[in-house]
Amino acid sequence: MAEDVLALEKWRAILWRLGMIGEYPIDKVGYGNLSLRVPPQDTFIITGTQTGALPHLKREHYTKVVNCDLKKNSAQASGPIAPSSESLTHYAIYKSNPSIQAIFHIHHPQLWQKMIDEKMEAIPEDVPYGTLQMAEAAKLVIQGKDEGVFVMKGHQDGIIAYGSSCEVAGKILLKLYRELGPLELL
Ligand SMILES: [Zn+2]
Repeated sequence: MAEDVLALEKWRAILWRLGMIGEYPIDKVGYGNLSLRVPPQDTFIITGTQTGALPHLKREHYTKVVNCDLKKNSAQASGPIAPSSESLTHYAIYKSNPSIQAIFHIHHPQLWQKMIDEKMEAIPEDVPYGTLQMAEAAKLVIQGKDEGVFVMKGHQDGIIAYGSSCEVAGKILLKLYRELGPLELL
């Protein structure tokens, strides 16, 4: 497994155990996707579509997004598996800030609700995920920042953390979990 995939896979295993990546049991829809920027510019590796249920992924579950057309809502990938439908938002973020190297999109109902309640950085609820509108809204919310986390009010349970490495993005989520997550209820 290539080094870049390993870095993602390490964090994916942690986030999977915390329920931030997984599959909704009733409708069997996978959620959560992680990506890492690789050369050349604005190219990134991302977890493939519908892989959420798996605790560990193999190289073939990752794919490389080489280009996106935000207006046409299409992602061009080279890999054995289709990229997550949420790749466009990742692309928009990478494109708008070259120092962002890793983007972790997770789902978590309690963290999502608490981030909204605490009025943390958010994308308004009338912006649906996977659209040009969302890509534009994401660019706005990250403006001037190299790392951070925001909640998508219009995307149930959806949160995005980003930073200059997998470590940075991953630690932002762990901190969020420690501060707002279900453990504090114990
Ligand atoms: Zn999502």
